[in-house]
Amino acid sequence: MKTALTKTEANEKIINFFSKPNFTPDEMKKIKRLAMKFNIKLKPYKNKFCKKCLSPLKGKIRISKTHKTIECGFCGHKNKFKI
Ligand SMILES: [Zn+2]
Repeated sequence: MKTALTKTEANEKIINFFSKPNFTPDEMKKIKRLAMKFNIKLKPYKNKFCKKCLSPLKGKIRISKTHKTIECGFCGHKNKFKI
């Protein structure tokens, strides 16, 4: 039988997930779904994963006056963040 997660448990799961140094896009997809289900904001972790391919975000960082851009090392998508 599946036990239903509470929001606190889901939150802990997400915090744990992002404390890992590495993850796969598949795992990221599951976390995204979990966050959506419990209406948990992934905003604090936005710079941890690529918006397009959901891989861990590691790549060239460019900083302008208003934005920080991190280019995804996997798909080349430029992830823009407001500073
Ligand atoms: Zn990417």
